[in-house]
Amino acid sequence: MNRTTSEKLYEEANDLILGGVNSPSRAYKGVGGGTPVFMEKAKGSHFWDVDGNEYIDYLGAYGPIITGHAHPHIAEAISEAAYNGVLYGTPTKLENQFARMLKDAIPTLDKVRFVNSGTEAVMTTIRVARAYTNRTKIIKFAGCYHGHSDLVLVAAGSGPATLGTPDSAGVPQSIAQEVITVPFNDVEAFRDALERFGDEVAGVLVEPIVGNFGIVEPAVGFLEKVKELTHENGSLLIFDEVITAFRFHYGSAQDLVGVNADMIAMGKIIGGGLPIGAYGGRADIMEQVAPLGPAYQAGTMAGNPASMAAGIACLEVLNDPVNYERLDAMGEALEEGILESANKHGLPVKINRLKGAFTVFFTDEEITNYDQAENTDGEMFSRFFKLMLDRGINLAPSKYEAWFLTIAHTDEDIEKTLQAVDESFAEMAKS
Ligand code: PMP
Repeated sequence: MNRTTSEKLYEEANDLILGGVNSPSRAYKGVGGGTPVFMEKAKGSHFWDVDGNEYIDYLGAYGPIITGHAHPHIAEAISEAAYNGVLYGTPTKLENQFARMLKDAIPTLDKVRFVNSGTEAVMTTIRVARAYTNRTKIIKFAGCYHGHSDLVLVAAGSGPATLGTPDSAGVPQSIAQEVITVPFNDVEAFRDALERFGDEVAGVLVEPIVGNFGIVEPAVGFLEKVKELTHENGSLLIFDEVITAFRFHYGSAQDLVGVNADMIAMGKIIGGGLPIGAYGGRADIMEQVAPLGPAYQAGTMAGNPASMAAGIACLEVLNDPVNYERLDAMGEALEEGILESANKHGLPVKINRLKGAFTVFFTDEEITNYDQAENTDGEMFSRFFKLMLDRGINLAPSKYEAWFLTIAHTDEDIEKTLQAVDESFAEMAKS
């Protein structure tokens, strides 16, 4: 596949933009580097790059794209918003309309607030939890990603139930001291952390269905227990639903896991592809936020008409159970086909799937926590990624990411993808 224009643009980008990209994973860091493909146009489930090559897309922009690219209903909404003026700095009717739609789908949202990214949404829930409880520490789970604010760029400490260490230069040790990271699906480790630091813990932050070390569902009873212990301790439970909200059904993952959180943070899908974040939950907790309460959060772009219009249009398209049934059926067809090919070629593959999102791990082990995901074969994944790309299949460039299906994928896409998988596995089995 000829990608000379991508190569030239990447060279130029490296002169102009730090690292050539505006988000590090786009530099193919997760697959050992290489020239990222510069895409030029996207429609439905397909991409065209600057050299005219066509790809079937499973990156889904890391999750926001679920209706397919350039869905006409969303495109029209954005266009109309553009002609009406994209930013007012005043309240608009669209904000009410969208808040009501979210609340209808997610009844735990007594009150909601719109921000501009998942990072902001999560960051603010932590501030609100701290304000509400008058405590400072948070507990989070290893391998969950919650954006790039200081508090969530903290890695696990050296032993169970120890304080964290900075996971990024520039995050002070004093901040890392405020974070305890425990393994996902490990109630005992969580209980230990609460026993050691409980009276200082403001909130417990978790992806209710993990999307960031692959798709990983909570073990039966895990989140119930986390909630029970969290509340016994006087702390708040926060679900990071930046990936999960509207991904698996029309609403929040709270319905799927059977546990309600005190606050949830959202992003990605609810913006229909435009920048957005939102957080919300119990009224008495949300009332901590300015202008009603002492916890400050604001934003020039927050609730901007274009993002509101795109979000409303996206949810309008999604609000039909047939969509999620179709995502599930396509996910199942891919899962079965990939496993069959892996079996045929003698490759160790496990797939974690929920509806139209799944992760292909190169391993013989079940994946239920981050350590296990880390131990899967990254070199095999990198080879697979590149072989698939050369066959016109665009996957996320990391062994930890998911394949995200959209309602625009077709049976023909699935067939072509499985053909590419079979050819790629055949190559991999040779060496
Ligand atoms: N939380 C989760 C669960 C995420 O997956 C992400 C983004 N991958 C974020 C938060 C941060 O969102 P954003 O990139 O919009 O800041």
